[in-house]
Amino acid sequence: MKYQSFLIKYAEIGTKGKNRFLFEDALISHICHALKRVDGKFEVRKEAGRIYVSALTDYDYDDVTEALGKVFGIAWICPMLQTEERDFDRLKETVVSYMAHVYGDKSLTFKVAARRADKNYPVPSEQMNRDLGEAVLLAFPQMRVDVHEPDVLLRVEVRHTVVNIYSEMIAGPGGMPVGTNGKALLLLSGGIDSPVAGYMVAKRGVKIDAVYFHAPPYTSERAKQKVVDLASIVARYSGPMDLHVVNFTDIQMCIYETCPHEELTIIMRRYMMRIAERIAEETGGMALITGESIGQVASQTVQSLAATNDVCSIPVFRPVIAFDKQEIVDISLKIGTYDTSIQPYEDCCTIFVAKHPVTKPSVKAIRKSEELLRGKIEEMVETAVARREVIRCG
Ligand code: ATP
Ligand code: MG
Repeated sequence: MKYQSFLIKYAEIGTKGKNRFLFEDALISHICHALKRVDGKFEVRKEAGRIYVSALTDYDYDDVTEALGKVFGIAWICPMLQTEERDFDRLKETVVSYMAHVYGDKSLTFKVAARRADKNYPVPSEQMNRDLGEAVLLAFPQMRVDVHEPDVLLRVEVRHTVVNIYSEMIAGPGGMPVGTNGKALLLLSGGIDSPVAGYMVAKRGVKIDAVYFHAPPYTSERAKQKVVDLASIVARYSGPMDLHVVNFTDIQMCIYETCPHEELTIIMRRYMMRIAERIAEETGGMALITGESIGQVASQTVQSLAATNDVCSIPVFRPVIAFDKQEIVDISLKIGTYDTSIQPYEDCCTIFVAKHPVTKPSVKAIRKSEELLRGKIEEMVETAVARREVIRCG
């Protein structure tokens, strides 16, 4: 069956009541954007708490459902038959023809679930259930009705101007439309965790940009390209994002030459956070996002996280903080970042790691070590922020 339209059911409505239209409009604009990537012309419209996507030309069903499956805010994608013919006898014929086309194998059980959004429709729902069920049984004697656990739940929704007939429901990604919940800056490395972290926060409706710290010549162009690739994959869900590429080499060298080696990673991470916060401030970001997870490495013990967090004044979202590695890997496989994340390119953190990094740093000691940098590092930070490269991804 070639469906002509889709009913989009949305997930949580973050902003109920008067602001609900903002949520719906954002969702519609993301749906339109997602559909631009597939062949065909579509009309997207809202009507009394419903969002409809109608194909105006030929299209590829798999491409469309895949594109819609990446739009945050969508709970269900229901391919449907929509008809303006509301006469009940004609409706019976349409329902029968729907079942004929959608289900090749007729040995199935079904149940009709009719609803009248238009209470003036002359046939009550209960009678619609019975009569439409009877029409289907007459047409396909192999089918059986099962009101408890039907193979097919056939929904027939009578609305004011149209009738929607559907029985297939494809799960959407859930969440809220991007942009309905502010903006944040993702610290994106080439690893497995940070792309997942960005995906998770974007899923809650937050628009994201990203920052990547690279250290040429210690990290290669390939390592940077890998991060651009990851940002582009996350952007398929979050929408296009700016990737700020910060040259971190001088800062890293300065820390390396000046501070105790076992504290290198923590101090480096504190500078990453400081710079990220500066960029967030400049670009309207209200929070930072990292892929940190408790205990994963020395720089992610609770003490280390506290020491890193010490320099931040805006909120830091760490959505995978309590996830096991495998749980993060599972999400990265699902969203398609895993294969890129495991490409073996060097990371700027790994190049300057000490043999025995502190695992329980004291904030006081770290602050003291950082005093050694005073007078030298401020200008380097200014330069790094000012000379960053911005790459549009997605
Ligand atoms: P990931 O898989 O995200 O790389 P990781 O387990 O390698 O995480 P770390 O290298 O300790 O962990 O980094 C922790 C977090 O710090 C990352 O999730 C990321 O948010 C941020 N980060 C680390 N390195 C960089 C970098 N070079 N550029 C931008 N952010 C970084
Ligand atoms: Mg990393």
